[in-house]
Amino acid sequence: MTQKDHKADDLNHILDRVEQMMKDGTLELLPMAEQGATEDLTPGGFDHLEPAGVAQMQIDPEAGRRIHGKPEPRVHIETFGCQMNEHDSEIMYGILAQMGYVKAQGPDDADLLLFNTCAVRESAVEHAFGRIGQLKPLKYTNPDLIIGVCGCVPQVEGQVERIKRMFPYLDLIFGTHNIHRLPELVERARSERETVVDVWESMGDDFPDILPAAREGDLKAWVTIMYGCDKHCTYCIVPTTRGKERSRPYEVILAEVQELARQGFKEITLLGQNVNAYGKDLYGRHGEGAFDFGDLIELIDRNSPGIERIRFTTNHPKDFTRKMVEQIARAEKVCEWFHLPVQSGSDSVLRRMKRSYNRKQYLRLVGWIRELIPDAVITTDIIVGFPGETEEEFQETLSLVEEVQYDAAFMFMYSERAGTPAAQMEDRLSVPEKKERLQRLMEVQNRIARAKNEARVGKVYDILVEGLDKGKPDVVFGRTRGNILVTFPGDESLRGRIVPVRITRAGTWTLEGELVESPVTLA
Ligand code: SAM
Ligand code: SF4
Repeated sequence: MTQKDHKADDLNHILDRVEQMMKDGTLELLPMAEQGATEDLTPGGFDHLEPAGVAQMQIDPEAGRRIHGKPEPRVHIETFGCQMNEHDSEIMYGILAQMGYVKAQGPDDADLLLFNTCAVRESAVEHAFGRIGQLKPLKYTNPDLIIGVCGCVPQVEGQVERIKRMFPYLDLIFGTHNIHRLPELVERARSERETVVDVWESMGDDFPDILPAAREGDLKAWVTIMYGCDKHCTYCIVPTTRGKERSRPYEVILAEVQELARQGFKEITLLGQNVNAYGKDLYGRHGEGAFDFGDLIELIDRNSPGIERIRFTTNHPKDFTRKMVEQIARAEKVCEWFHLPVQSGSDSVLRRMKRSYNRKQYLRLVGWIRELIPDAVITTDIIVGFPGETEEEFQETLSLVEEVQYDAAFMFMYSERAGTPAAQMEDRLSVPEKKERLQRLMEVQNRIARAKNEARVGKVYDILVEGLDKGKPDVVFGRTRGNILVTFPGDESLRGRIVPVRITRAGTWTLEGELVESPVTLA
């Protein structure tokens, strides 16, 4: 069977399930969004920012009106997947705001509806396809509605044809590399009878360094420092969907952070599939002119007045150097939170995954972090049931989890991605076997997380207050510098402030506390 056949097989299976659910009427009924005023989109402009030679977008503010024949057409984007996709949706909202769109209340009052899809696990693809099928009736109630599918799934070879066959009513399909072409794509989707398809294999040279973004919220912001991934882990579809590593120039990143500070944002998260590889493609790996992730962290830490907290994700243990840990330890605003995906505790599985580090090297990195930043919070991603994983190999993952004592972990069953090397490997585990291992792993990790949280009771942490807790009028929530969620009695006036909170109760994933009135020494 060719690679192409494998990919076809994979999505075929999902499409069949969704199609069957549509036939059976077992897809959930369409939830109707609340009717009411639409939201203003703040495009997050960068007008003050014109570093020499930096490419920016030119956007026609009349485009939305021309396309839909009315002022302030409404857009709704449904986003699936990781922070990259969420931030891409913010960028698309930003571009559309500059074209004259406003945010719809939900899908049912939109003039333009986009599905930003994720392909990393089969369940994510199923979820997106289910939702696209579920919203089909909107095309009948509003024939002028433009519907598009974008993001990672269309980047997977052979899938555009399937999406078209499955959802023939779509107006537009595009990928991850050409979101800057959104204005012309939507114009074409309006004027052409056939589904407009525009999926690029890689990011072109015309990809702008600066893109507008209408961010969710006004306290915390994602800032992309690099696109793509060069690692090619054998289970992962991301290098196919996101292409090769491409760093943004540091001047542009710094200017974006400074603009966010000017707009009142308090926290930024530097974003990339492997932030520790930052700069290699632009500034070289070693020697004169080299400028790496640690240097970027230092630069931003020193030059971002107004920003209180700096985070970064995701890390790759292979590229995380001791020098970077030292720079992070020195940087005042950089938070003590390290998301260090390990994937497996077994050297033989790590080799089959092509992770390019072994258990000992990973533990050496954890050791540097604990030595230089003793109160660091360390979290991880783990995959169970990789092809051929034996009980002994799985036990090594359990023992690594015990040894590192992670504060939290995202734990996944291996999901076969057609076209990746792992999909061709022998000895696949059955779903019940994978489930059973996942269950055992979760039991160990959850016990550790709870014990770590219980040890926090009585200590005082600085909390950046994000708002009211799920609509309760007298409880607020926020996060420690280590990224642990804390709720405590308080009101809306605390929003955006960093306040000392004493922990009074621990759960597995979250903490409860109380505001400390008098000055104290922080944990
Ligand atoms: N670049 C990041 C890294 O290397 O850690 C991860 C990106 S990926 C979107 C997030 C996580 O999804 C990975 O760390 C991995 O644990 C999980 N993942 C990726 N491919 C997977 C697959 N085929 N099956 C199950 N989990 C997968
Ligand atoms: Fe996927 Fe590996 Fe790249 Fe992470 S580092 S995005 S897991 S290929």
